[in-house]
Amino acid sequence: MIKYCKLCLYSSAHPLGLIINNDNICSGCKIHEEKYTLDWKLRFEKLKKIVKNYKSRKNNYDCIVPVTGGGDSYFIVHTVKNILKLNPLLVTYNNYYNSPLGIKNLANLRMKFDCDILIKNINPNSVKKITKYTLRKFHSLYWHSLAGQTVYPVQVAQNFEIPLIIWGAHQGNEQVGMFSHEHEVEMTRRYRKDHDLMGYEAEDLLATENDLNENDINEFIYPSDQNINKIGIRGIYLSNFIPWDPKKQHEKMIRQFKYKSCDFNRTFEKYDHTNCNVYMNIHDYIKLCKNGYSKVTDHAVREVRHGRLSRNDAIKLVKKYELNGVKYLNLFNKWIGVKDENIAFFYDKFKNNKFWIRNGVKEYIFNGHSKNLKILKNKKIKKIYYISNSNINLNDFPKYVVFGKGIN
Ligand SMILES: [Zn+2]
Repeated sequence: MIKYCKLCLYSSAHPLGLIINNDNICSGCKIHEEKYTLDWKLRFEKLKKIVKNYKSRKNNYDCIVPVTGGGDSYFIVHTVKNILKLNPLLVTYNNYYNSPLGIKNLANLRMKFDCDILIKNINPNSVKKITKYTLRKFHSLYWHSLAGQTVYPVQVAQNFEIPLIIWGAHQGNEQVGMFSHEHEVEMTRRYRKDHDLMGYEAEDLLATENDLNENDINEFIYPSDQNINKIGIRGIYLSNFIPWDPKKQHEKMIRQFKYKSCDFNRTFEKYDHTNCNVYMNIHDYIKLCKNGYSKVTDHAVREVRHGRLSRNDAIKLVKKYELNGVKYLNLFNKWIGVKDENIAFFYDKFKNNKFWIRNGVKEYIFNGHSKNLKILKNKKIKKIYYISNSNINLNDFPKYVVFGKGIN
């Protein structure tokens, strides 16, 4: 039977694995408590000690920081460059779903922080072939993006012999409390495969049922353990040393460095995935089809845990947003080569019958997690404050925006 946490909205069916104790409190909420109980001053001193060993004496790069034009990039670079006083080499994987706002944010990021950046452009034909296959095979259009953004920093670390990679939050920790902050878990090949890549390494995509060949997947292959050990590559997470609060952090970045945020159709949050026109749209809808909940639940849970939203209001917000429409779908269909008229049938195939009840030939009724979450008080939602200072405005762009040369 599915159990729900009494503090947040997550259930025992969370895909990252969540433990709910006898008091009906989940592991995510439990680990979140550490943000108020650990000695974070001491933890930050620990971080300073770790990075001290990586300061280059040759006026070279001290570390690698993976970035996008959204997410926590600004805060991570700010911490690394301005507070830890390191000289980072920024790296980014072009996932081809860039929003004009994301490109602006990325350009402003490297100017404001005066950093060099490497951008990886994998040829769009291979990316499309892979995406068509992962969509069909395990219903993910984000595999290539996750694979690219988790492998490219490690490849750069290997090729430039810069052993330290600095990431922002550890997703498994933030959402489901996989580890205590004090365990200071670091990046691993195993976590990447099991969670980021949904169990599929690049090599696993080569199958007789598709036309992918080694050239298509080569750039997604993780460096060997031998090379990783030889250079001493390690990836640390800032969230183990700083009490992570994306809302607060983003607002500081908006004020100090002019990070641009925007409104989304499917969530009340305005800071997270501004760089991508797919993540909060078709990708988020597929999440709802497969898992019975979408990103608005993740955002609501986060805000409940930080005490900015009551559980009752969080449930209301989830119900308000999760069935909202998807924007820019025709753009994605065109890019991937699926005809608009076949699209409903195509995406309906992703609907998990645990969360969707079939009603007639074409109709489905949503029966996801929020159906079990009852609104107790029907008062107006207490407004949660977010700054929205721009918009994705993709309608002005007839095609996907790419960084690199090429017609796709
Ligand atoms: Zn919880």
